[in-house]
Amino acid sequence: MKKEILGIQFDDLTRAEAAQAGAALLGEDKFHYVVTPNPEFILAAEKDKEFRDVLNEADLVLADGIGVVYSAKIQGTPLKGRVPGIEFAGDMLVHLNEMGGRLYLLGAKPGVAEEAGAHIVENYPNIALCGTQDGYFQDEEAVLLKVAAARPDLLFVCLGAPKQEKWMARWGKHTGARLAIGLGGALDVFAGRVERAPESWQKLGLEWAYRLKKEPQRAGRMAKLPLVLVKAAGKRLKK
Ligand code: UDP
Repeated sequence: MKKEILGIQFDDLTRAEAAQAGAALLGEDKFHYVVTPNPEFILAAEKDKEFRDVLNEADLVLADGIGVVYSAKIQGTPLKGRVPGIEFAGDMLVHLNEMGGRLYLLGAKPGVAEEAGAHIVENYPNIALCGTQDGYFQDEEAVLLKVAAARPDLLFVCLGAPKQEKWMARWGKHTGARLAIGLGGALDVFAGRVERAPESWQKLGLEWAYRLKKEPQRAGRMAKLPLVLVKAAGKRLKK
């Protein structure tokens, strides 16, 4: 079931339900893409119609950040919970491993996707890592041809938002992949270059605070985030 939160149609799913839905998409012989919006996406999509449409046309729209869950609650349309993109990606790797499928990693700084790939195949030996490409390319079409030639089943697109979502919507169907997921900084995490918050912080809904502590340069970017909660409150009051 879809729930609209500040202009974005989210799928109201638990992590297990999202994994099941993702596995079904991976089983179908056609292209699908998944987006994992956080409050920054919501604010950007308000001002960028193309981005908003690309998000709303995705096969699955997962609530990545605790800020989305809070906004949903404040707005009066609560979600079952959050489904962090990195956890959904992990669930898809488990499934791909069972299938013995092919994985392509697109994005992050040069060298990161290779490192992430090495860690992934160490943990999931039945996955064939069919290619990697850093995210700092100029020629979009050349990259598309490279991805398509590798014949992936699953494609992680980690170029930051909104670039990764627009890339998937524009080129995804030509890649031959069954499922593409826009995952922001996930390759840095899979590569072991960036640490996720410890579980205790995650459980308290403080993953954002941990990230801010580790990467204080994000403060400017994150300062806008309470605005999403204020907008959600405004929407509730209008109802
Ligand atoms: N990135 C990229 N190409 C670009 C811009 C960014 O590959 O042109 C990568 C960047 O190296 C990082 C990821 O995209 O690995 C985005 O990370 P960010 O922290 O912005 O995403 P978040 O995790 O917050 O969604």
